[in-house]
Amino acid sequence: MTSRKTSASAPPDLAVEIKALTKIYSANGQGKRALDGIDLSIPRGAIFGLLGPNGAGKSTLINILAGLVIKTAGHARIWGIDIDGDPRNARAAIGVVPQELNLDSFFTPRELLDVQAGLYGVPKAERRTGELLELMSLTEKADALARTLSGGMRRRLMMAKAMVHSPPVLVLDEPTAGVDVELRLQLWSTVRALAAAGTTVLLTTHYLEEAEELCRTIAIIDEGRLVACDETQALVRKVDEKKLSLTLIAPVTELPAALRAMGLALEAPDRIVFHYKPSRAQVGEVLAAVAAAGLAIRDVSSEETDLEDIFLRLTRSGTAS
Ligand code: ADP
Ligand code: MG
Repeated sequence: MTSRKTSASAPPDLAVEIKALTKIYSANGQGKRALDGIDLSIPRGAIFGLLGPNGAGKSTLINILAGLVIKTAGHARIWGIDIDGDPRNARAAIGVVPQELNLDSFFTPRELLDVQAGLYGVPKAERRTGELLELMSLTEKADALARTLSGGMRRRLMMAKAMVHSPPVLVLDEPTAGVDVELRLQLWSTVRALAAAGTTVLLTTHYLEEAEELCRTIAIIDEGRLVACDETQALVRKVDEKKLSLTLIAPVTELPAALRAMGLALEAPDRIVFHYKPSRAQVGEVLAAVAAAGLAIRDVSSEETDLEDIFLRLTRSGTAS
């Protein structure tokens, strides 16, 4: 069950396709709805970010794809392969780096990768141990005991371990949770290198900045539901917007055409509003145009939105339904 089987035909447009995925954990007869009808399409060749606060259901979703958690309802395809119809090959198409690092400390990185390749039935001649160690900058530590590795090295070794069977899709569950800034930057560059080499990367994170920095597309989930899914650029464009409010001394019934043409609107008889992109619009010009139109301004205020605001707005309890 190597990835050769899956790469024989043309690669799918969607690396992962999820439909109405639902998971209810039952404990002591009580049901916990961790995923509630998630639809998600992850294009091939992306760094795709699954963003959400703690408890949102990110790990549950990942673990269903990995075959570690049994879904309650819905469907999922990995690299075009249904996880129910052909679980073996679906699992062969994905490599998962779990949130918790559990490394066997008494192996060396080289041994660990060899053992893992053996578990996946990768023939000796096709093993990529040396190449993966190189890719993860672990060549110098190839024969050191895993317990002597630094935190960053351990995480990179876990990534290498998830890739021994050359899966087209690599999933990283909270790769940088609780790591320091330097290590985070290091891991980001490793992820970028993997993606550049053709691997589709799906990563979960509860750090907005990380999703914004790394991911082409971001899905936001909260309380088991999808609350947003958009190209990062589009999300950021929404964010690159400010609202300028001008309170007039004397109310008017209509704005002069010249001001309307600039995108200004009347929100109330004594209030003009202007939505603009700080990266483009010149507030000075707007104020000058209003003055030139003979309207006297009593007060000026401006509100800013950022990704944090959008995230909070989207993930606030009750807004998801
Ligand atoms: P995330 O990874 O986004 O932090 P999880 O998928 O780990 O979220 O958890 C989603 C919800 O499901 C949480 O409320 C969590 O407490 C619950 N949960 C996770 N695993 C189990 C389990 N094995 N049994 C019962 N509830 C669970
Ligand atoms: Mg988690």
